[in-house]
Amino acid sequence: MKDLHFYNSLTRKKEKFEPTTPGYIGMYVCGPTVYSDVHLGNCRTFVSFDVIYRYLLYLNYKVRYVRNITDVGHLLDDGEDRMLKGARLEDLEPMEVAQKYANGFHDMMRIFNTLEPSIEPRATGHIIEQIEMVQAILDNGYGYIKNGSVYFDTLKYAEEKGSYGQLSGRVIEDLLTETRDNLKKQDEKNHPSDFAIWMKASPEHIMKWNSPWSVGFPGWHLECSAMSTKYLGKKFDIHGGGNDLKFPHHENEIAQNIGSCNCSPAKYWLHTNMLLMNGRKMSKSDGNTISPVELFTGDSPHVTKGYSPMVVRFFMLQSHYRSTLDLTDEALLAAEKGYKRLMEGYNNLQNLNGTAALKTELDQEILEILVGAKSDMNDDFNTPRSMARLFELVTKINALKAGQLKLTEVSSSTIEEAKKVMGAFLFDIFGLKDEVTSNADGGPIEGLMDLIIDLRQEARASKNWGTADKIRDGLQELNIQIKDGKDGTSWSLN
Ligand code: AMP
Ligand code: ZN
Repeated sequence: MKDLHFYNSLTRKKEKFEPTTPGYIGMYVCGPTVYSDVHLGNCRTFVSFDVIYRYLLYLNYKVRYVRNITDVGHLLDDGEDRMLKGARLEDLEPMEVAQKYANGFHDMMRIFNTLEPSIEPRATGHIIEQIEMVQAILDNGYGYIKNGSVYFDTLKYAEEKGSYGQLSGRVIEDLLTETRDNLKKQDEKNHPSDFAIWMKASPEHIMKWNSPWSVGFPGWHLECSAMSTKYLGKKFDIHGGGNDLKFPHHENEIAQNIGSCNCSPAKYWLHTNMLLMNGRKMSKSDGNTISPVELFTGDSPHVTKGYSPMVVRFFMLQSHYRSTLDLTDEALLAAEKGYKRLMEGYNNLQNLNGTAALKTELDQEILEILVGAKSDMNDDFNTPRSMARLFELVTKINALKAGQLKLTEVSSSTIEEAKKVMGAFLFDIFGLKDEVTSNADGGPIEGLMDLIIDLRQEARASKNWGTADKIRDGLQELNIQIKDGKDGTSWSLN
């Protein structure tokens, strides 16, 4: 595909991308709720949007990428605020919980080599904007006040605006029946499908603010409406998140934006699919889960060894962002091999120089692969197909290196183009780092690590536990994990 097209969840169609202002893009992605360690599913979503962001930059758009931090208002099913639960369990201030897990999230994003967003607003830093939006919704007649809380009137909204549920495809009548059982718990609402935009806080609630209606806190959906409007305007280009957020979070965001300013916020909605493990939803409650650190160190019954962050990133890119991704040990082993082959192929390419004077058939084939890699990305950011093209290129590179294909049959301009395009895809667009060739073949890091591991083995053999632990802890501070296994000690970058 020559121009960028992608699937818009709002229209359920693949559409040609046309930014509101030529050359500029405003993109909002729902960020993490920082009440516990970031999990791999979250990482999959943020890595997917990182590649999308990187590709838009590669196409020379000036992108303002806003990804928020949720630090208030995201309630659990039992009605407790996730942040307050975190604070209660860890005996910390809610803001300490937010800081701790936001730091952990940022560390993990760096480990996965994701680019930082242009703006990372926090919900608690935008209470005034959220109160103003609640007021605008009330002024427009789409909200009502009950005992100090404010609710969004979905029935009135659906009647006047023609629909509620366009994004998720939910029909309001179904919603009324689906959620009727919940009504008893939340009987302040006029209709089961209504949702809170401001909640009155109980006296013991810690995170609360003054408002015209009560001392309370904003509903979760409100922060994204208020912060996207503040930083990207009433109408912007792209809104993203995992597909579990389509309903109710994104549906309610749209209703709030239309209800407060009569404009639908984003033109294109992008949703990533879920991460599974061994074919089942990754879930903490039934033990079918693995943390990023466990995956890097191999310290989990679900994997036979540790996998480096770049192998995991490569693994994530081998599936399309709209497909589920099934994490299995076999798939990771295959990804490790694939990643190594790709990096070695790129390294081999650096040592090639073409010599043909004119364009040959082989030139043509290589140039087609390069064009194909881009047209695959233009077709709904198809990273697996684009990656498959790079593997076709590696096959040619390795054949040229081994002499099965002749360097006299390829021109230097084609080889130069291949170096440029493959480098851009691997490092700028896919955001991979070369952990293979810089460490391989007795390179200095590999050699140093062998030495350090030997020294630690010697210390352990002579029961010098202090030194052995000092080495392990010192490496850990440098984000290097070492793991003792049956086949000796291995190391990986955290
Ligand atoms: P949360 O911290 O729960 O608000 O989620 C942050 C982001 O991660 C949201 O965009 C979610 O949709 C996404 N997410 C949550 N679980 C998964 C999963 N298992 N796979 C992929 N994305 C997920
Ligand atoms: Zn959001």
